[in-house]
Amino acid sequence: MNNPKLEDIVSLSKRRGFIFPGSDVYGGLSGTWDYGPLGVALKRNVMQLWWKMFVEDRDDMFGIDAAILMNQKVWQASGHVDTFTDPLVECSNCHGRFRADKIDTSKCPSCGLKDTFGEPRAFNMMFKTNVGPVADENSISYLRPETAQGIFTNFKNVVDSLYPDMPFGLAQQGKAFRNEISPRDFVFRSREFEQMEIEYFVHPDQWEAEFEKWVKAVHAWCDALGLPAESIHELEVPESDRAHYSKRTIDFEFDFPIGREELLGLAYRTDFDLKNIERVSGKSMAYRPKDGGEPFVPHVIEPSFGLERAIMAVLTAAYTEDEVNGEKRAYLKLPKHLAPVKVAVSPLLKNKPELVDKAREVYSMLKKEFGAVTWDDNGNIGKRYRRQDEIGTPYCVVIDFDTLEDNSVTVRDRDSTEQKRVTIAELAGQLV
Ligand code: ATP
Repeated sequence: MNNPKLEDIVSLSKRRGFIFPGSDVYGGLSGTWDYGPLGVALKRNVMQLWWKMFVEDRDDMFGIDAAILMNQKVWQASGHVDTFTDPLVECSNCHGRFRADKIDTSKCPSCGLKDTFGEPRAFNMMFKTNVGPVADENSISYLRPETAQGIFTNFKNVVDSLYPDMPFGLAQQGKAFRNEISPRDFVFRSREFEQMEIEYFVHPDQWEAEFEKWVKAVHAWCDALGLPAESIHELEVPESDRAHYSKRTIDFEFDFPIGREELLGLAYRTDFDLKNIERVSGKSMAYRPKDGGEPFVPHVIEPSFGLERAIMAVLTAAYTEDEVNGEKRAYLKLPKHLAPVKVAVSPLLKNKPELVDKAREVYSMLKKEFGAVTWDDNGNIGKRYRRQDEIGTPYCVVIDFDTLEDNSVTVRDRDSTEQKRVTIAELAGQLV
């Protein structure tokens, strides 16, 4: 894998319309990011791939889409109100605030003075709000800090309405919000981000075997994102660092430009969440086996994927520099199924109506076939190739004077830069 610098990725993302700082025109809002035309296409491709792999292609998985705002009891029962905190320290000199476990607390990283920090205090990361016009204790709600609880709270609804065979999983994609003390490293640590989470419900005797299957499924996912196997590292989280209810957690780490950091997590959460719901709601979460066996409260394996970190990993793995005809080139070697634009179509010259007409015909045909096809007639052909390479477009199709004679076009490959002639009749089949 190439080893791009973070600033290469940040600047390409902004320059080419993938990801912009949130509220940019007003000077920004720390920890928020906006996706531009190419970024949203990439993001949707990643989300769709995930949905296909983990929901559509399987018989044991079902989707869910819960509300972001939930009854405050959800977060009391789950423990988030009391314990979803990070340790916060404040410098007595410059009043800078930092996450104590992420800095060397003997010296302030902002003003540089020594011994200015007192004892850390627990800072709750949930964004609090009130639902409705009356702001009192009863109307408190939170922007969800994870999508998982929206799945647990619907477990009974799904069992009552669908009664799936055990084991089965529920999958959800959506926004999550955390008031991170120090958002940093591009989208890696944001205050508003997107999660793709699965709660996989199993009989307690089966958790170990099912956990192993999920380890494999996670690797298959990383592979489908085009991440080299050697850049993925399993970190078996030691008991002292695990949540108290988790019997086993693996953090899947990736070699980001900022170092080896968590890409996603896989945790065995026992029956902690469903038992909490039983305790606070007074409703049974037991599953009645179809073979007449004893009802039981299922245990849960949770693969939790962060979309922003997946995108940052995809961009890191794809960012490539090489030399073409003695000139340096930077391009995104994205897997074809993730590329925001699949094909760019160009007439060789934009002031020759017969070329433009023919190129428009080819463009319409390919657009019908692939959707994400772009028209590019700016600048000379070399410049068009570079521009498309930079955003990861796998193919450029050029219509020239020969096309008018023999109905063939030039197809230029992003990675090899090779060009070949293909007839229009065979074109769509050659580009899949
Ligand atoms: P970290 O230790 O990096 O703060 P975490 O262990 O708190 O992460 P989880 O609660 O396990 O993270 O969340 C599951 C996934 O959600 C993470 O693996 C990550 O991909 C994503 N995620 C968590 N926090 C953020 C954030 N602030 N910005 C972007 N993605 C995040």
